[in-house]
Amino acid sequence: MKVVLENLTKRFPNRNKKIKEDVIAVNKFSFEIPDGKLIGLLGPSGCGKSTTLNMISGLEKPTEGKIFFGDDDVTTVPAEHRGVGLVFQNYALYPHLTVRQNILFPLQNLKGKDKLTKEQMDEKADEAAKLVQIFELMDRKPSELSGGQQQRVAIARALVKMPKILLLDEPLSNLDARLRLQTREELKRIQTKTGITTIFVTHDQEEAMSICDLIVVMKDGLLQQIGKPQDVYDDPKNLFVAKFLGTPAINTFDGEIKDGVLFIGEDAVLKMDGVTDQKVHVGIRPEGFIPDENGPFKCDLKAYEVMGRDSSIISSHDGMTSTQIRAIISSDIHVNTDGGKVSFALKPHKVHIFSKETEERIYLG
Ligand code: ATP
Repeated sequence: MKVVLENLTKRFPNRNKKIKEDVIAVNKFSFEIPDGKLIGLLGPSGCGKSTTLNMISGLEKPTEGKIFFGDDDVTTVPAEHRGVGLVFQNYALYPHLTVRQNILFPLQNLKGKDKLTKEQMDEKADEAAKLVQIFELMDRKPSELSGGQQQRVAIARALVKMPKILLLDEPLSNLDARLRLQTREELKRIQTKTGITTIFVTHDQEEAMSICDLIVVMKDGLLQQIGKPQDVYDDPKNLFVAKFLGTPAINTFDGEIKDGVLFIGEDAVLKMDGVTDQKVHVGIRPEGFIPDENGPFKCDLKAYEVMGRDSSIISSHDGMTSTQIRAIISSDIHVNTDGGKVSFALKPHKVHIFSKETEERIYLG
């Protein structure tokens, strides 16, 4: 099922009584989520992710704008009639019920023509449990399960009614690092198998980038960029998106374009034809540095860490605006660090420039 958001806006009265202006949690949000895809809604704390999800589910009413499921306008349809499955960070299983009873719960409330026989309900619960691979745990209570298993029960419970859309709000936050990794792969597998359009809220960009078909980056209630994870990483629209995606983070500098050349401090680091002379923000991805004794970008070496396949060269430069420069290179490459200096050439497609005023990307002419 395709989901379309049209100018979606949510304003809350300010909790601080001294401030008259409303809090704009989501601001004129418009985008289309294609049918059957896994979408990551991504951004820092407070940027409006949960509010967006709550409006799609029907738990929160938009102040303005519209929500469509397929061609149907569902903006005023109550949550229980939207056919949406929800999984939250606190998966809130009923502790006194078994896994089977927890999964059956949403089916037992069906009324009228949707009402199911006990056999039909059992069949659906079995199917959902098998899908998330917890079938052998059906008779246990939640307290007898690991965190990851409990989260799978919550997903089975959301899937049992075969929702048109599955909404996941930070579903992996309570899991430890290893389980988180495992469960995110699992989520991807379940989503691919069911083909249910799924919206996944997280503040963890690595998580979103690893499993999502598309990511939507938000800041202060505003849509910043939407696209395939690798495309957004390679081609960020503004400085915020460039800084938000990528671990280690992009290295940032104050730069200046003079006669078609990018300068960082005194160093003429890269030719940039077709850009008018101006001061700019510069972002260089950690993999964008090539150690080269004759390279134009001359930095002061701070540390050189060899870690298996890759090495990290930590350095500094007068023009940097991040706290340090981190370059990631293959461990096979020899690096000359004589005299506490290290010089680099730069890979042009890993260097982005942004307007000093708007922080929007400046594209080369
Ligand atoms: P987090 O990652 O921390 O969960 P989020 O991106 O999901 O954050 P939201 O919970 O959607 O962000 O909140 C967006 C903004 O709206 C925040 O500034 C928040 O304080 C505000 N907000 C959310 N709910 C309410 C409410 N009921 N009343 C007033 N302000 C609210």
